[in-house]
Amino acid sequence: MAIRRSTTAEQGLPSAVQLRLAPTLAPQPGLQERKFGHRARLALTPAQIRLIDEQAHAARALWNLLHDWWTMLAKHQRSLAAADAAIRQARKEIEWLAVLPAQAAQAVLKTYYQAWKNCWEGRAHPPTFKARFHTVMSVDIPQGRDLQITRVHRRWGMVTIPKVGRVRFRWTKDLPAGAKADAGNRITGARLVKDALGWHVAFRVQTLHPMPEPHQGPQVGIDAGVSVPLALSDGNHHTHEQWRSTCDKSNAWLTGREQATLLALERRAAHRKSLRKQGERTSHRLRATYDRIASLRARAKRRAIDWQHQTTTEIARTYGVIVVEDLAITNMVTSAKGTVEAPGKNVAQKSGLNRSINQEAWGRTVTMLTYKAARYGGVLHKVPAPGTSQRCSACGFTIPGSRQSQAVFACKNPGCGWRGNADHNAARNILHLYRMGLALVPAAGRAVVRRARRVKPATAR
Ligand SMILES: [Zn+2]
Repeated sequence: MAIRRSTTAEQGLPSAVQLRLAPTLAPQPGLQERKFGHRARLALTPAQIRLIDEQAHAARALWNLLHDWWTMLAKHQRSLAAADAAIRQARKEIEWLAVLPAQAAQAVLKTYYQAWKNCWEGRAHPPTFKARFHTVMSVDIPQGRDLQITRVHRRWGMVTIPKVGRVRFRWTKDLPAGAKADAGNRITGARLVKDALGWHVAFRVQTLHPMPEPHQGPQVGIDAGVSVPLALSDGNHHTHEQWRSTCDKSNAWLTGREQATLLALERRAAHRKSLRKQGERTSHRLRATYDRIASLRARAKRRAIDWQHQTTTEIARTYGVIVVEDLAITNMVTSAKGTVEAPGKNVAQKSGLNRSINQEAWGRTVTMLTYKAARYGGVLHKVPAPGTSQRCSACGFTIPGSRQSQAVFACKNPGCGWRGNADHNAARNILHLYRMGLALVPAAGRAVVRRARRVKPATAR
């Protein structure tokens, strides 16, 4: 920014033009705005849990009413203002809907409208009804000043939840609250989310930081490997061996004992379900079994995300330029099966649950690397993917059969004969493509962030 301003001054432009050219994005030169979410666990009494549960059910019911109303109307009658009026009317007339604070009801409308916008702009399918047992329970608190966050102990903070009151939460991060809050550093809102561990609060945090110095570290190519989770082009690997008690299983993040428990619970649930007559309600015992399965899976996911955070932070600290494959993740999942006329390739490998979990994990890794690279002054580049796992990284030839197995690559070119780890080979190819100038999208560290279509639906804020 400072550079751009000095060049206009050198060209001798009138001061009015200079003023117009001055960027208005950052509040102060040399400062970078950072927006992120922070999740904290809430300590609630059973009565408070019931209150928030009721709010979440009301929010879900409001979504369903809204969806019913919206899809029933003629197209020219649909508008945000009409929806807003309908919600106000419904809150007056339907008693149980009033347990939801007015602000949270507005947030439901905002999210619903954003869902349609995502659909119109080709990022997502149209919104649907939300089923009671398949929906993540959540309530939005859109205004940060309602929260009144204070720190009461080294490990505990207090937050106000509308219509519930003051609630304690685990203080695990230095939040810009109370005396520490100002125009640049503040909490802009929150969302209550229920998962297998109970209710959490997810704060929307906005902070200002000094712009990082450009990262002088080396360049690196990264491949999401099959035999190793993350293979780097300089030969380093990032694995999570301590959890790999049995390889290539979706629950590889659990210990052997936990896996055995999970299997037993899944068997018990399947058995109970098989004995259930048609139309009979799910028993309390079966629901308790489902809850235990969900909590074990949530534990595995937390371990996976923790590992990803540690690994991506280390990579972003070490390397200045990070190059990854530009994978069209959603396309890969949907196209695996193909049609009758044109059956998809590798259906067996792709259709597995594992595969989709791995892809979800890879997408999350790239997201983390993107913002962490920007934080440490590095840059993340994406290069076109085809052929990186088949080509030899030493001689550049693609000869069928060079990739001997999932793990071993042995070049069939008689003049080369390079042999090594297949994932490592792919990572070297990815870095090579970047050095050839084939980078597609500068995903971080530049002024303009272009997002590929059909990647991730935007969420309403
Ligand atoms: Zn070769």
